[in-house]
Amino acid sequence: MEIENVVIIGSGPAGYTAAIYAARADMKPLLFEGQRLGGQPGGQLMLTTEVENFPGFPEGLMGPEMMEKFKKQAERFETRIVSEDVTEVDFASRPFKIKAGEQEYLAKSVIICTGAQAMWLGIPGEQEYQGHGVSACATCDGFFFRDKEILVIGGGDSALEEANFLSRFAKKVSIVHRREELRGSKIMQERAGKNPKIEFIWNTEVREVLGDGTSMSGVRVFNNKTNEEGELKADGMFVAIGHKPNTSVFKGWIDLDEKGYILTKPDSTETSIEGVFAGGDVADHKYRQAITAAGTGCMAALDAERWLADQE
Ligand code: NAP
Repeated sequence: MEIENVVIIGSGPAGYTAAIYAARADMKPLLFEGQRLGGQPGGQLMLTTEVENFPGFPEGLMGPEMMEKFKKQAERFETRIVSEDVTEVDFASRPFKIKAGEQEYLAKSVIICTGAQAMWLGIPGEQEYQGHGVSACATCDGFFFRDKEILVIGGGDSALEEANFLSRFAKKVSIVHRREELRGSKIMQERAGKNPKIEFIWNTEVREVLGDGTSMSGVRVFNNKTNEEGELKADGMFVAIGHKPNTSVFKGWIDLDEKGYILTKPDSTETSIEGVFAGGDVADHKYRQAITAAGTGCMAALDAERWLADQE
């Protein structure tokens, strides 16, 4: 079986940037774009609207369009892309073993860029009404809520961004936050604050999604300041409470932090296993931006290239 120089797992900004650099260093990378690990190929930008903060695009562009460009650039330098999820790895000895679909692959080095995905509240009714009012992606589902009343859960930038986006369609958007102080950035807070369709419901926890079995009609809530329970009427609920890293496949093989993010060495993308590198949100709970993911994807390719050169 052929032994790959470098296998890249993941197809967000980190994965494709790693691929572009590895391909241009003649490493002939093989990239698994994944179906399930990161939700879908292309990662979280596939669920974003306008990206306005990626340098080099002064007019901004849509997240999915940006990922199409990343992919094209990686393909231009002959990255081989496999549309499979990696389901198993074996990092016990080199070459490393990677299983995807029915096939096993061997690799001298691996770059993990599997990103992170949206978290859910884990309350009754949430799963039942997914696709029938409950969503974690305004870009995907906002269109279905024209002239409706929507709740957005969370108090960070994601919640504020989702609320602003949804206000284009909705009659009213209520941001339900468990505290009375937002975590999101000043500029996003101002934008939401000025939006006449957006209102805030403070100190409120959503406890259950209510409905008639076919579509949601509202939620049961608890005010943690007054200890009162109540109901809010709503046609839709968008959950925007943060993300978790896609690392289940790597558990037990490499060191992870308490939240499951991959631990890398200081000023490096090296993981606890020599020859395995990590870039992007899977190893970053702090910055989590497309540009920082691309940056650490580039670092991972350079680290892998230098490590391979040292081996040979
Ligand atoms: P976040 O900053 O971690 O915020 C998560 C929010 O959800 C917090 O307000 C948190 O409440 C709340 N929350 C968490 N678990 C909850 C639960 N079980 N029940 C109810 N509420 C819960 O996550 P994020 O908003 O996804 O942002 C992540 C990072 O991406 C940030 O660095 C952000 O700046 C960045 N981002 C940037 C943009 C942009 O610039 N356009 C857009 C999106 C995200 P507490 O505040 O009480 O903890």
